[in-house]
Amino acid sequence: MHRPFRSSRDEHGTGSLGLLGGLRVTLRSMFAKKSTEFYPEQKVPTAPRYHGRHQLNRYPDGLEKCIGCELCAWSCPADAIYVEGADNTERQRFSPGERYGHVYQINYLRCIGCGLCIEACPTRALTMTNDYEMADDNRSDLIYDKDKLLAPLLPGMTQPPHEMLPGTTSTDYYLGNLTVPPRSTEAADGPVSR
Ligand code: SF4
Ligand code: SF4
Repeated sequence: MHRPFRSSRDEHGTGSLGLLGGLRVTLRSMFAKKSTEFYPEQKVPTAPRYHGRHQLNRYPDGLEKCIGCELCAWSCPADAIYVEGADNTERQRFSPGERYGHVYQINYLRCIGCGLCIEACPTRALTMTNDYEMADDNRSDLIYDKDKLLAPLLPGMTQPPHEMLPGTTSTDYYLGNLTVPPRSTEAADGPVSR
């Protein structure tokens, strides 16, 4: 047996009230504040602690903070980091102390932005910036090497390899006891997520 198109409830107005109730949701949405973002024409700043592209930081004289210890790679749950350390020599010094990161790669096809790697880094060589524009149209360009990850040279920095500052030891670098450079160690790191 077919159901009637109109019920006795409609005749008493209950169905119309239901319709108005539904329209109320529509009307409220029509006049609500719009949340559309017009990316990429207008870029909305991220939260300060947003986990974007990584950065390999430098000391204020330009030497690299990475010591090639691989702790970041071992802490990564996505196996997205590859590090090969190498020995510094007095003629070819890239970082204070014995070792530096000779090869450093992050595979952004794997990275999930969890930040465990930057927590593991003992020298604060690795931090994360707010940069999120890393899309590309092929897989190999999403594996970033040192040329894309190293922090830029700021005024007062010299491109390694070069000597440590006169009269300093690697411990002075690790403890932030450098006095000659014009910028503080923290400022040289750039925007970071901790
Ligand atoms: S942010 Fe997480 S997933 Fe990405 S490289 Fe670091 S540890 Fe690995
Ligand atoms: S970035 Fe930090 S944890 Fe990773 S290899 Fe370099 S010093 Fe070690």
